[in-house]
Amino acid sequence: MKSEEKKIILKGMTLLELKDYFVSIGESRYRGEQLFNWIYNHISFDYSEMQNFQKELRNKLSSVSELQTLKLITKQNSPSTGTKKFLYSTYDNKKIESVLIPEGDRNTLCISTQVGCPLDCKFCATGLMGYKRNLSPGEIVDQYLLTAKEVGKANITNIVYMGMGEPLLNFDNSVKSVEIFTHELTKGLSRKRITISTAGIPHKIIELSELGLRVKLALSLHSCFEEIRTKIMPINKKYSLNENIEALKYYTKKTKTRVTFEYTMLKGINDRDADIQAITKLCNRLPSKINVIPFNSIKHMNPGGISAELEPTSNENILHFVEKLRNNNITVMVRETHGDDIAAACGQLAIKTN
Ligand code: SAH
Repeated sequence: MKSEEKKIILKGMTLLELKDYFVSIGESRYRGEQLFNWIYNHISFDYSEMQNFQKELRNKLSSVSELQTLKLITKQNSPSTGTKKFLYSTYDNKKIESVLIPEGDRNTLCISTQVGCPLDCKFCATGLMGYKRNLSPGEIVDQYLLTAKEVGKANITNIVYMGMGEPLLNFDNSVKSVEIFTHELTKGLSRKRITISTAGIPHKIIELSELGLRVKLALSLHSCFEEIRTKIMPINKKYSLNENIEALKYYTKKTKTRVTFEYTMLKGINDRDADIQAITKLCNRLPSKINVIPFNSIKHMNPGGISAELEPTSNENILHFVEKLRNNNITVMVRETHGDDIAAACGQLAIKTN
């Protein structure tokens, strides 16, 4: 008998790969498109439901391939906001999380690309748990598929790559998942409804520009000053903000989209008048807008060092800050905090191992 690991995982394969796969097992190419349709439009992962596959084919598929990658462990609901957090287990018993955030007529699914994260941003809970491994394309798309199974496909309107991990450091697998989500046969998710968020890996931003996927791109900015940014985001030492801005400029030109700067408000660190001037100057350098995010506590992780000292800017000061930016003609969005009662808000995703 074949062991489970030997079975090939078909979720996360692009349409082309699925077609090639069917040919490789001696079946017709068009079967690949039929399976793609079952998985991504009918949200079906059970060969017995696939009526246009004869019994013989279903049995063959079950013996050589596997559709499931993740297992849902728990589901938490935030009663105050309707945010839902899903905890999944991988085949090697790693834990990852996704969050579904309702906001008006939008329902945004926030997905993870890595188990943990290697970047160690000082304000982020995921960084504190360290880095374990990249997620496979199947594990990335399965977060969407399993949530769609739970809540209905129509109830996920947007996807943001803002869960655990740095998507551009798991470039190929993240890109493959985007290709699947934005494929013309996958109904309901256009490139405009998908956002990749990065801490800033310039050469990968350039590579993404060239691919023609034209999804929305967000840079976690958090400070316009290199020295301060390096203090709270150590990756800035390797890839400076300036290099990232040049790469983003290229992205906006190549894709004809504007980029978003994410800006988590940290008291005394990035909420000063000098920051307003610097943001204004930066936003005038390229088509962009800024997304202001209240800092969500990571105290549940008992952090040390500078992480322990970080405080949120008060709501009142956030409003002043935003008003001053708007007076400078900067487009500013203020993100509401969703799900901090279940540690599902931005930067709060982390699995305590002990
Ligand atoms: N690695 C990617 C995606 C994950 S973080 C990136 O850096 O963009 C998703 C967003 O949440 C980023 O903008 C991140 O800076 C922000 N974030 C992280 N921790 C946060 C916290 N404690 N409070 C508010 N926002 C946080």
